[in-house]
Amino acid sequence: MKLMVEIDGQTLPLNDCFWILADTNGCAFASVRGDCAASAEQAHERITPRVRDRAKETKNGQAVRLLTRDQWKQQAEPCFLGRCEHRAEAAA
Ligand SMILES: [Zn+2]
Repeated sequence: MKLMVEIDGQTLPLNDCFWILADTNGCAFASVRGDCAASAEQAHERITPRVRDRAKETKNGQAVRLLTRDQWKQQAEPCFLGRCEHRAEAAA
């Protein structure tokens, strides 16, 4: 069965999306393909298998978000390449 999700008014197949784990600045530091998980909780379990580590991330304000492929390109890829605005801001 193909799972469909809605992001910003667009309905997309989940396997065309990406889950990311981002810090409080919105800086992504982990990502899994959309079809790896059916919910943000599941995606978080995939990214961070240990319960205690997940609890720590949640406490620190890190959260899982679902992005479209385009959003991933714009918002997450620069983070993984070390070229995002978040990091520039943190360094300033
Ligand atoms: Zn970033």
